[in-house]
Amino acid sequence: MPYDTQPQASHFINGRYVEDPAGAAIDVIFPYTGETIATVHAGTAAIVDQALAAAKAAQPAWAAMAPRERGRILTRAAQIMRQRNADLSLLETMDTGKPLQETLVADATSGADALEFFGGLAGGLTGETMQLGEDWVYTRREPLGVCVGIGAWNYPTQIACWKAAPALACGNTMVFKPSENTPLCALKVAEILTEAGLPDGVFNVVQGMGETGKALIGDGRVAKVSLTGSVPTGRKVYAAAAHDLKHVTMELGGKSPLIVFDDSDMENAVGGAILGNFYSSGQVCSNGTRVFVHRSIKDRFLVRLTERLGDAVIGDPRDAATSFGPMVSESQMDIVLGYIDKGKAEGARLVTGGARLDRPGFFVAPTVFADVTDKMTIARDEIFGPVMAVLDFEDEEEVVARANDTPFGLSAGVFTRDIGRAHRVIARLEAGTCFINSYNDAPVEVPFGGMKASGVGRENAHAALEHYSQIKSVYVRMGDVEAPY
Ligand code: NAD
Repeated sequence: MPYDTQPQASHFINGRYVEDPAGAAIDVIFPYTGETIATVHAGTAAIVDQALAAAKAAQPAWAAMAPRERGRILTRAAQIMRQRNADLSLLETMDTGKPLQETLVADATSGADALEFFGGLAGGLTGETMQLGEDWVYTRREPLGVCVGIGAWNYPTQIACWKAAPALACGNTMVFKPSENTPLCALKVAEILTEAGLPDGVFNVVQGMGETGKALIGDGRVAKVSLTGSVPTGRKVYAAAAHDLKHVTMELGGKSPLIVFDDSDMENAVGGAILGNFYSSGQVCSNGTRVFVHRSIKDRFLVRLTERLGDAVIGDPRDAATSFGPMVSESQMDIVLGYIDKGKAEGARLVTGGARLDRPGFFVAPTVFADVTDKMTIARDEIFGPVMAVLDFEDEEEVVARANDTPFGLSAGVFTRDIGRAHRVIARLEAGTCFINSYNDAPVEVPFGGMKASGVGRENAHAALEHYSQIKSVYVRMGDVEAPY
């Protein structure tokens, strides 16, 4: 390990590491071995106050800085992050259990993409002018103030950067609370930003469980909350933010449909279904976990899927050859095993997997159920593990209605060689992030987020700037004021 997995201290506030041992101890577990690799302390009321005070104090000067200079700092941080990708990826692998094969290309690199992209956009933040006869109006795009970011455990570095980069580009400051399961990498993001020249207090990290998140959101100094998490947590956070009418971005869960028509390229459809169900051991919010396969090709699909799953290299996530790692935690593994039991009990046909692997670590075998019906629990609930539900369908009209019959609306995918059908079906699917003949691509240039219960707002792309800034309109009268009296 290039650096110790134990951080210098639990929190990063005002440009330096800060500790408060009075906070509850949180052990960080390496999911491959179950070993404790670090211990941090949850943020106490004093730590929450210190972080928010730092963010509040730093915000006016940060917002007053020339936007291009703000952007230059973010871009510099992106460069440092890329240079350290190997070390950061290993730390992410230890924290999450995800294979190095994934973390090397999808975590710090994705974070760096966001810092670079929004660093580049910062200098281009503009308002508009409207000419109204002689009078005119101009608009200013202003920051919101102090933003709170709250993360899930599946992409810790990426989530921290997807929130921080647009927030900071717009002139806001941030207090970020990582998931209690994966507290390590956000501290590295803070270190790198500071090294890149970020003024003290602009990006702060506070550890803790839901209670710490709640304390942050409830504080009057906070203007905006951006959460990545489950729908139940989203409801609580949205409600808490509503009290003071704070701005929100909600990146929540899903149960997304992936529709495979009978004219699909079979290898690509199977590949898409594998990426959309088993990458990161299925711990991806946008996964296409309801795979609707046309009845006429279902058997062939299941044969190829099972064959290809047999090629997964399950093992030590630090090993470059490993392509499938453990679940993030024992409790998440137990939740997933519970869903597998429900699938069996409710009559779905187990095609492959279906159990914990007989080895140390929190491994659940890549699992496929076929003959799944719409009402089964495994077709309705987000499982957040390597469990694919394959459902049969006959025609387009039917599959669109069934695909939309869910409270979620994060993602959707269609595999077909019929270009007309591809666009027609995607247009009718109620989901924010869609794919044609692909699945789960998430480049920073593209807006990412959900419809219905899967979320509010969008991350990435120009769209994210809308959610981290507010518009001030200024009416300029050129002539006299005509008052009635
Ligand atoms: P979670 O909802 O349990 O926790 C998310 C975060 O919220 C954690 O940091 C947690 O400490 C915090 N939290 C919990 N209760 C809180 C409260 N009352 N107030 C403030 N903060 C609180 O989610 P998880 O188990 O960490 O992550 C998995 C979930 O995240 C899945 O549902 C997944 O779909 C979703 N997710 C969504 C996206 C997306 O972009 N749409 C991305 C990744 C994960």
